[in-house]
Amino acid sequence: MRVRVEEIPPGGLTVAEQLDPANLNLETPDIRFTGPLTVKAFLEREGDAVEVRVEAAGPTEQACRRCLEPTARPFETRFELSFPVGSDDVLDLTPDIRGELFLNYPVEFLCRADCLGLCTRCGANLNQGGCRCAAPQRVTRSG
Ligand SMILES: [Zn+2]
Ligand SMILES: [Zn+2]
Repeated sequence: MRVRVEEIPPGGLTVAEQLDPANLNLETPDIRFTGPLTVKAFLEREGDAVEVRVEAAGPTEQACRRCLEPTARPFETRFELSFPVGSDDVLDLTPDIRGELFLNYPVEFLCRADCLGLCTRCGANLNQGGCRCAAPQRVTRSG
């Protein structure tokens, strides 16, 4: 996502682009994009800087913290960036946007609030109805 600074009018400039998550290496073990990432940026000159307000959204699958099951969920975030510039510069927003996306990933995603998680003995997904262990225990004590 590149913008020439001289093309930003006094009232600001909106640019929108669909980015391919695969090109950006956006995936982590916990989050996988299932469609393009839509990025909308509003750029405004402020003296020797360009202030950018970014909205990004895309469909993802996220791994539940408890049961590890991938669950479809829209990812949506907004943040602001600031670049010191000269008037003949070309801004490449993509690396900074990519960095911000990682910072804005959800940290504690659960497939549902009352997710039962995995059996600590056999690893079965307890949301799918129990397992063969007589008394599955969520917390095990050693000794
Ligand atoms: Zn879960
Ligand atoms: Zn079990």
